[in-house]
Amino acid sequence: MKFLIDLHTHTNTTPHAYSSLEENIRAGKEKGIKIIANTMHGPFLQDSPHWWAIANQRTLPKYIDGIRILKGVEANVINKNGDIDINNKVIEICDIVIGGFHSIPEYGDIDNIEKNTTAIINVMKNNLVDIVVHLGNPIFPIDYEKVVIAAKKHNVAIEINNGSLTTSREGSKPNCKKIMELCLKYKPYISLGSDAHFSSLVGELSESIKLVGNYDKELILNTSEENLKEFFKLRGKNI
Ligand SMILES: [Zn+2]
Ligand SMILES: [Zn+2]
Repeated sequence: MKFLIDLHTHTNTTPHAYSSLEENIRAGKEKGIKIIANTMHGPFLQDSPHWWAIANQRTLPKYIDGIRILKGVEANVINKNGDIDINNKVIEICDIVIGGFHSIPEYGDIDNIEKNTTAIINVMKNNLVDIVVHLGNPIFPIDYEKVVIAAKKHNVAIEINNGSLTTSREGSKPNCKKIMELCLKYKPYISLGSDAHFSSLVGELSESIKLVGNYDKELILNTSEENLKEFFKLRGKNI
């Protein structure tokens, strides 16, 4: 089984990523990737561009060099109510909205498991994000069982982030394994993302693929364009 869809990538519109969109596309194409989600960081990170940069993706073509580009954002969860740092107008422009926790001052204390769990569940209830990302980050403790059950209920996908299993968010791996065990029990949709911040990492999903193992293919968004479209249809979106 090949995974030719990467649903979490970044470009140098954010200074802590190092490649342009065109460089990401070229590198993805060389690996045979067919669909790339350009998930720009939401405006509340310290080095995020103005939200206009996210909204202006409306000017991008649907296909660039034969690769389908999903216009997207990686929103920041900003409080316990599950609010995020982008408004509905920007959400409407985006094909895909992924979201999760990053260390932003607005969120305040990050080590409160009850607050974090409630925040993520509310994001899903509010129907604001399609995929909740890198939940295994140990600096944001979460009740994984409650979150996986809520993801199933609200048709929100749980991300298995390749970066969390390799170079980023140290200490995530055991948590990602726990999340995967719970997914096997409750069967939510799963999304794989490279979280590439450099072009050579676009489409690099090998550790995530290992972790998902024999998980039901129709529940993994990256297995085919049909699967992906079916998932978004359930979420009321025509991508
Ligand atoms: Zn980043
Ligand atoms: Zn992130």
